[in-house]
Amino acid sequence: MREDEETLSFEEICIHLGEDPERYLGSVVPPIFQNSLFTAPSVDARSRRGERYIYTRESNPTTDILNRKLAAMERTEEARSFASGMAAISAAVMSQVRSGDHVVCVKNVYYPARVLLQDYLARFGVEVTFVPGTSAADFERAMRPSTRVFYLESPTSINLWLQPLEEVCTLAKAHGITTIIDNTWATPVFQRPAEMGVDIVVHSASKYLGGHSDVIAGVVCTSRQHIEAVHREMTLIGGILDPFAAWLILRGLRTLPTRLRQHQQNAIQVAQWLAEHPAVHNVLYPALPSHPQHELACRQMSGFSGLMSFTLKRNAREAAVGVVDSLRSFRIGVSWGGYESLALPMLIEDYDGEQRWGLRVHIGLEPVESLIADLEQALRHAEDKGR
Ligand SMILES: *Cc1c(COP(=O)(O)O)cnc(C)c1O
Repeated sequence: MREDEETLSFEEICIHLGEDPERYLGSVVPPIFQNSLFTAPSVDARSRRGERYIYTRESNPTTDILNRKLAAMERTEEARSFASGMAAISAAVMSQVRSGDHVVCVKNVYYPARVLLQDYLARFGVEVTFVPGTSAADFERAMRPSTRVFYLESPTSINLWLQPLEEVCTLAKAHGITTIIDNTWATPVFQRPAEMGVDIVVHSASKYLGGHSDVIAGVVCTSRQHIEAVHREMTLIGGILDPFAAWLILRGLRTLPTRLRQHQQNAIQVAQWLAEHPAVHNVLYPALPSHPQHELACRQMSGFSGLMSFTLKRNAREAAVGVVDSLRSFRIGVSWGGYESLALPMLIEDYDGEQRWGLRVHIGLEPVESLIADLEQALRHAEDKGR
């Protein structure tokens, strides 16, 4: 972080940092620099690289405001934004590995990230081992002399397993291994992995950072040491964020802490209510004391977002589908992190290791009483049909 940023609160960073209205005719919202190139008044001025913007694939003033905010929010020195979460993940991983290298990855990781590591990078001679990741010993056992990266996601987005970040990073540092974490679930509002020793933090900004289900974007936050390699991936593979999309993420960030507080409040109430319901087998949500890693969750996160899963006593696909189809306040959809509540039927690995049918739900910003009433009627409806 730069010195002038240290005195700002997290909320002030989200709202004000880098927005300097006086530079833009007093405009309270910074403009969208929707231009591909930047021209110069003379050949000499143009050749003074580093002093001027040149071309939007390399950098853009609107996107730079976003990058500066994101770095300050994640407590890293630098950040770059990308056209999607997957573009950010790909750039982060590819900036670190070459043919012959080995990656240790959490087994319940976001599925396309798993495919990238397991199938796509295999074509370039990169190997991967998947581990549960609930202890540092998992990573230690899987390590080889060729291990370059530990790829983390804490909590994971379907069954909400955590990795003990400080211990995993201590192990990684002792062996010169780079740690990358997907911090999409917690956001920097509730978790700052760089403060626990993680080298590279990635996000799907399509979720909470954007927050309105109207933009696809991704983020990489890291140190000066690593940013050059990430920037190179960005400009060569070319998955940059469009300035208009950057502007939409800036708009999302202004309300991020406020939205997350409400997602948390609603989600905790729903989780507690579900945990007491006779049709529910288990609720997978780290805010609950019944979560096997609840203590760790309270140690490394300062709060909990709106995505959770629960499994059903009646362990059958048609039971889960029945509940989802009976919901009215929840929409059916894959993504999450927007203002709206969502549900999907899913086969979920429960905390006893058993595969069980259940639902993944995103708890949105609707009144929590409506959401609970809706879940109540849907669970009852599905029970009645199952008899
Ligand atoms: C959605 C998601 C991604 C991918 O982000 P896109 O913006 O869709 O490319 C990565 N990780 C997690 C945990 C996600 O939920």
